[in-house]
Order: sequence, then C-alpha cells, then structure tokens
Amino acid sequence: MKYAEVIISIAHKNVDRIFNYIVPESFEADLRIGMRVIVPFGKGNKNYEGYVIGFSKSSEIPFNKLKYIVSIMDKYPIFSENTIMLAKFMREKYYTTLAECLRCIMPSVVKDKVSRYVYLNREKKDFNVLFDKCVSRGNLQSRVLNFLLEFDGTSVNEIKMFLDINSAPITALEKKGLIQIFDREVKREVLDFSHVNFTKPFVPTDEQKMAIDFIKSKLYEKEKKPVLIYGVTGSGKTEIYLQIIDEVLKNGKQAIVLVPEISLTPQTVNRFISRFGKRVSFTHSRLSVGERFDQWKKAREGEISIMIGPRSAVFTPFSKLGVIIIDEEHEHTYKSETTPKYDAREIAREIGNITGSLTVLGSATPDISTYYKAKMGEFDLITIKNRVNRSFPDVNVIDMRKELEKGNKSVFSDELLNAVEDNLLNNRQTILFLNRRGYSTFVSCRKCGYVMECKDCNVNFTYHLSNDRLVCHYCGKNISNPKNCPQCGSKYIKYFGAGTQKIEEETKKLFPEARILRMDMDTTSGKHGHENILKKFAAGEADILIGTQMIAKGLDFPNVSLVGVIAADMSLNSGDFKCAENTFQMLTQVSGRAGRSAIKGRVFIQTYNPEHYSIKFAKNNDYISFYDYEIAVRKQMMYPPFTNIFFIMFTGEDEKKIIKALYKFLDIMLKFNKNNQFEHIGPAPAVISKIKSQYRWKIIVKGVVERNLKNYVLYCLDKLKEGKDLSGININITLNPVYIM
Ligand code: ADP
Ligand code: ZN
Ligand code: ZN
Repeated sequence: MKYAEVIISIAHKNVDRIFNYIVPESFEADLRIGMRVIVPFGKGNKNYEGYVIGFSKSSEIPFNKLKYIVSIMDKYPIFSENTIMLAKFMREKYYTTLAECLRCIMPSVVKDKVSRYVYLNREKKDFNVLFDKCVSRGNLQSRVLNFLLEFDGTSVNEIKMFLDINSAPITALEKKGLIQIFDREVKREVLDFSHVNFTKPFVPTDEQKMAIDFIKSKLYEKEKKPVLIYGVTGSGKTEIYLQIIDEVLKNGKQAIVLVPEISLTPQTVNRFISRFGKRVSFTHSRLSVGERFDQWKKAREGEISIMIGPRSAVFTPFSKLGVIIIDEEHEHTYKSETTPKYDAREIAREIGNITGSLTVLGSATPDISTYYKAKMGEFDLITIKNRVNRSFPDVNVIDMRKELEKGNKSVFSDELLNAVEDNLLNNRQTILFLNRRGYSTFVSCRKCGYVMECKDCNVNFTYHLSNDRLVCHYCGKNISNPKNCPQCGSKYIKYFGAGTQKIEEETKKLFPEARILRMDMDTTSGKHGHENILKKFAAGEADILIGTQMIAKGLDFPNVSLVGVIAADMSLNSGDFKCAENTFQMLTQVSGRAGRSAIKGRVFIQTYNPEHYSIKFAKNNDYISFYDYEIAVRKQMMYPPFTNIFFIMFTGEDEKKIIKALYKFLDIMLKFNKNNQFEHIGPAPAVISKIKSQYRWKIIVKGVVERNLKNYVLYCLDKLKEGKDLSGININITLNPVYIM
C-alpha cells in the first residue's frame, strides 16, 4: 500500500500540516510528487484541492481511518522538491501556511490550450488511393484532401475557414481512416519577434568591465553572497545585466530579470530581445491568466531561458537557474501587500541558497537597508560612479519661499517657467513631475518653510480635513490646526494640495500652443493606457509630459532635456519615517530622465525646504553622503535597519470596539514584554481612518530581533483571541511594511 503526503489547500493554521491519503492502485503509475489532487476532507468529506509533497510506505493512522485520493488534477508535476523547500522558508518568514505559500508560488490552474490538427493518413502511400475512396473529385471531402496535399497538418478551424465548410466532411474522412486528427498543445505568444533588430554587446566602459568580470567570477563560486550594484542613473547597468546573462546562457543555464511593474515597458523588454531573441519571454499582470500560464510552462519546459517580469516572476520554474537580477531593487513593489507578504529580494536570496543561483541587485539609489547590508559585508558591493556619456544634468533647487516674497503665487517659479518656454522654442521635450501619494497632506508655512511635525516620532503631522486637526500617524497624538506659523508668525500656514490635473490646467493656460500629455492613475487605465502615453511621447507627439511617480522610473527619452519637480515637499512631508529616503530616490530617478543623450540636461526642483539634506544630496547626485546622513538618523530614532517594525491594523464598523480591542491587545503585550525588549507606539488611527464605513486603527511594535518580535506579536494576538470576542474586527499584520500609515 502506498500513501501520499498531502497539503490541503485551506489557509488555516489548524490544517497547516501533512495529511496521509491512500493512493488507489490505479493511480500509482501516474501520481508523482508535485501534482495536485482532489481529496475528501473533514467530517463531511467535502472535496478539496491538495498538493502531493511526498510518499510513504506506512502511516501511523489506522488503515480504516484513512481516505482515498479521489482524482489527479495534473498530467505532470507542477512543483518540485525545491519548491517545497522554498514554501517552507516562506511559511516561517511570512507567518502563513504552507498551502498559501504553494498557491502563491504556482500559477492558477489553467487548462492547456489545445487545437486539433488534421494530417493525411501517411500509411496510404499512394494518394490516389485516397481519392479513389472518395466519389467524385469535386465534392467536399475531395476538396479537403486536395487542400491537405498542399498544407498537411492544418488545424480543423483553419481548414473550415479556408474552404468555407462545416466539419462534416472532415469527420467523414476521419471515419474512413483517410485522415488523422491529433490534439496539439499551443502556447500563447506574448511577444512579437517579427521585427527584431539584433544588437551587438557594447564595448564595456572600464567601470562596467570591472562589474561584469567580478560578477562572472561569482557565478562559479560555491558560496555566493548576493551582489549589489550601486550605479548612478545612466551608468549602463542594463548592459552589465545583458553580458552577465550571456555568460549564464553559455553555461547552459537560465536567468530571471525582475523589473518594477511600471518599468516593464516594451522598450525595456526589447533591450533583452534585441540581444537574445526568442530565448526571452516576459510576464506581466496585464496579460491574461492563460498567457501567463503558458510563459510559466515555456520556462518549465526549457523553451525559453530568460524571463522578465515583476516580483511574481521570481517564482519562474527554471530547472537550471543561473542568476536572478533585480533591477531598481529599492522599489517598494518588490514587497507583496497580500498574504504571503513576501519580499522578492528575500525570495531570490533563498532560491540562491536552495539552487546555487546568484542574486544581483541593481540601483542608482539602493534601499538604505540594502546598502547597510552591503556595508556590513552581507552582500558584495560594486560601485559605478560615472554615466556612460559622462554628463550629469544641471540640477537647480528653487526656493519657493522667495517666489512668494516676489508675489508669485502660481505653482511655477519664474525660472522653471522660462526654462519650459526655452525648451518649447528649441523643440525639446519637458517632463513635469508631481509626487502626490494618496490622501496624506501636511501643513506648512509658505513664508519660512516650517512644517508641523510630531517631535516624538520625527515625522510630520497629517492634516485631517474632517475635523481640521493635525494627527501623528505613528503615536496618535493630535493637535488643533494653527492659524499662524509657530516659527515666524505668518498667516501663510496651510495644508498642501495640488494634483496633476490642476498642473495640467495651469500649464495649458501658460503655454496654449504646447502639446501636453498627462500620465497618472486616471489617464492610464486599460490594457495599454500606460504604454500608449509613453509611445506618443517617445514619438515626439507631445512637448510636455505631466505625471506622478509613474514617469520617474527607468524611462529613456533622448529628447528630454528638461525635468521640473513641481513640489519636492509632497514626498518630503508624507509623514513616514522613510520620507527622506523616498524623496532622495524620487529626485535622483526623475533627474536621471534628463539629458540622457548628447543634449545637456537641466533639472529644476521646486521646494519650500531647500536646505533639507535629501534635496541637497540629490542635487549633487551624492548617494553616499545621503546614506551616511540617513543611517545616522535611523540609528538615533531606532528605525530600520536598526530595528524591525511590526504593523498591526484593526478594522471594522464599530470604532469603539476596535479601539477597546487594541487597548486590550496593548495590555497583553505589556504583560509579556520581558526585559522591555519591545517598544509600542499607538494605538492611533490609520492615515485613511475610514474606508467604506470600516474604521481603521493601528498599533506599531518595534523589536531588534525579527524572530523574537514576530513570535511575541503572534503569541499576544493568540492570547487576545482567546480572551476576547473579536467578531466584526479584521486584523491585518505586516512586518516592516513599505508605508507605516
Ligand atoms: P542605467 O540602467 O544604469 O540607468 P542604461 O543601461 O539605461 O543605464 O544605459 C544608459 C545608456 O547608455 C543607454 O542608452 C545604453 O544603451 C548606453 N550604454 C550602456 N553601456 C554603453 C557602452 N558601454 N557604450 C556605449 N553606450 C552604452
Ligand atoms: Zn508622534
Ligand atoms: Zn513661518
């Protein structure tokens, strides 16, 4: 008797273990590890999906208590032993269940797309024999045979279309044994290879060569640390990736390239296709489930060797993986916001541990925590200081307080206005950038630049329109909105707010003859919305592109020689401990869009806070100094990477009940807080304190050792659930979230 070890596809802690099922004799030949099965489960013996992760010859459970596998869902294994190891890692790391991890790693079930193809029966060597068997040459069956003589192996649908017939004659011929029909699997194509212009590798610059040689040598080492390439914008990181991939392919291995979803444009994918042709595929959330599934299968079957995609592409099932490259590694989209809340960078590293593949991270503005790891020796670090074209744009910081003094109350400073005019006259393109994230808005003085902030948390107060109060979203402190600036007494203290639409209107008024495109959440819906706007701009169909963070990333437009940042303050005062880092990244990335060709680029950054270190260092393109400053602030305030932050949010319709439960939770935590290892901040309302009549409150817990913090919080949550009725309350927990709001 053979028993299968099965994980049931139910995401519940009590079910998160292995169950034994009897393998019916008729399944023994077909069933393998890595297949999905249907099994009866629970008292009612309801059918559930299960994953076979092993077999055993015996079971501790008495035979009469065991159940039989009902059916097998897959023709071939869809996950491997390595997948199971990775899922186990994820379960521990992201405090979830094995079933949930396996479901995240694997594609959704999609049936193979099958077409039916018609062939002449090759056993009848003499084709006239075929015709003799049909009556007259003019009839439909004969026409089908004639057609097949020329186009043997055409699909049933195509024959019907070309000959304008129904399927009756085809069926008749099959019955007579004159033709044979086979099912053939067709994989959906997502890339167009008909116009590939192959490019030759560039002769690398000295800095590129140093990076390429170093990483190539790492490919052959047994113990591999991840490699971080810190390379300024325009330093040619993509060329480095291409040459590393070339080496990997030469060794018969495969590569995964992760790119933030937003930079996953045809332009990006083409840089890989133009070097490696049909060995490339890509995946993207805008593809259909079937299309994505087929790319997954091409990888699994070795039909392709390079997969480009967003964070989920890290799970591409290559069997001989050589390298995982993560471009723009600082991007927050590498962290999943749904369970399991994985970080693709951590997954890549673990895949490296399991399979021996190398992880390469690249960025012009590495995540502070990543750079810290590199400095501490956890990663190998490569630095590229120069642009390939050796020319950085001129970055000008404009003090908007002075504009107010001059009486200029528009969103454009005089300098930026002149520069846009100048660019229009010279037929060059301009990007105007406005960073506005969600609902958060801050209160500041337009005269002296003072920003209202919570001194306890070193973050800005957020303005709440509903009750005209300022709230700290870390500790929950709230104060009334001042009428005058606490620093200079001016009455120009107010909350900040302007959207891309307003900027567009104002730009149109100022430059009625300019052709303007706007790119934000509202203008980019639909399958190709985002792409179409970029295509138009690249084709020179517009002079000015106005947009949100969507336009800051990775774009390469040679004719853009001017970038204007309307208000750096928007990201600087977002009320998050990472706002300096986000601002530095944003300014550096957006400046990197200007002057990428021979034309010298110009950048204007408008702000009420020109002395802020993130702006000063971004102006000088000086990541290292920024890092040194920022890491000191983090250490002093005990923020990551020096600690871990657990974010717990309670939501529900009954606000009082939520708050009461959160305070009860705090009580429990304080009781179990041995040696005061952990720090608690809040409870406080979330930035968006109510969505769809659901109130949202949160509490933050800090702890230096990740594992201890996690165990502590989960333990206390269990205690809370034991003692209290939590019906109607939803609990959402995240470790080190992207935004703590
Ligand atoms: P990054 O990703 O570091 O911002 P890119 O890879 O986009 O930089 O490179 C910037 C530009 O320089 C691109 O247009 C690229 O084709 C070009 N480039 C890269 N390496 C070389 C090289 N060795 N010689 C000439 N041009 C290069
Ligand atoms: Zn505070
Ligand atoms: Zn003031």
